[in-house]
Amino acid sequence: MVNPSRRWVINAIRELNAEATRSADTHLLRFPLPTDWEVDLYFKDESSHPTGSLKHRLARSLFLFGLVGGRIEASTTVVEASSGSTAVSEAYFARLLGLTFVAVIPISTSSRKIELIEAYGGKCVTVRNSTAVYKEAEQIARTTGGYYLDQFSNASLATDWRANNIASSIYEQLADECHPEPTWIVAGAGTGGTCSTIARYTRYWGYRTKMAVGDPEGSVYEKAWRTGRADLTASGSRIEGIGRPRVERSFLPHVIDHVQTVPDGASIAGMHIVHEHLGLAPGPSTGTNLIVALELVQKMRRDQTPGSIVTLMCDRGERYHDSYYNSSWLTSRGIDTAPHINRLREQLGTRSC
Ligand SMILES: *Cc1c(COP(=O)(O)O)cnc(C)c1O
Repeated sequence: MVNPSRRWVINAIRELNAEATRSADTHLLRFPLPTDWEVDLYFKDESSHPTGSLKHRLARSLFLFGLVGGRIEASTTVVEASSGSTAVSEAYFARLLGLTFVAVIPISTSSRKIELIEAYGGKCVTVRNSTAVYKEAEQIARTTGGYYLDQFSNASLATDWRANNIASSIYEQLADECHPEPTWIVAGAGTGGTCSTIARYTRYWGYRTKMAVGDPEGSVYEKAWRTGRADLTASGSRIEGIGRPRVERSFLPHVIDHVQTVPDGASIAGMHIVHEHLGLAPGPSTGTNLIVALELVQKMRRDQTPGSIVTLMCDRGERYHDSYYNSSWLTSRGIDTAPHINRLREQLGTRSC
């Protein structure tokens, strides 16, 4: 006889797997570059998940990790520290499983994300400072007898790097391309989970693809990668989803081949250029990805090495109408995108203003 609480866990895992079966894979979109460049650039469109970002994969993995680890049961309150997107996806899965969900988010989180978390039945607790989210989430989990999903520690543990992940999907979708083994894959690092999973998968299956990370101003990751120090801290990033004030445990510097700091004005310019070329408006971390990808494209051209680069569309711009897509919001923060936009348009051979 299976006891009722064990039966609930078995059913919850079945629910998560059924959700995955109902969902389609995300597209790999080709970003048009001049053909004589002999480099192909692709965006894996992670914004097309049911909850609108690459955190859909992570949230599913974190719930499974908690369930198979015996930490989540029918009456468990589930808690997370998040800058928004993870909490949106986790609120969706908590509702699917009938669990109470509490998100601890920084006060700067976009109102659209808060609306989405609440629409899925999640509760939001805001803290003043992005470094305060961890302690507050732990505390709430302790006082409610709940479970702290802890994306920043668990992202690279909960995701299987051998198979069934974003990397396996990318390689499958490249099968019929001119350059099916990309020279580079470019991603940002928030938890570090995505770049860790892609890099581990690449090594495990014997590909030569190198992993590059775009790091925003104010993030600790570039320096931590360069110096090998895990104890460093920084002021914090203004690009939602990527860059951290401390080195998270899911960020694995040893599997990353290149880290580049990207100014915020360039990231936001990149976001607009992606919109112009793909017809889909992304969030700012996708702009950071474009900037690093284009630098690597130029390097491949200089080195006369044809090939391909894959990067990610992480989420959609609709979440950021009042911020990154709002010119007075940018001006009040002293962010100037115009010189970067002009430079990018010139580089890509599109109209200049
Ligand atoms: C989380 C996030 C990232 C970075 O992904 P990680 O796997 O956490 O490193 C990039 N962009 C957006 C919009 C995100 O929410």
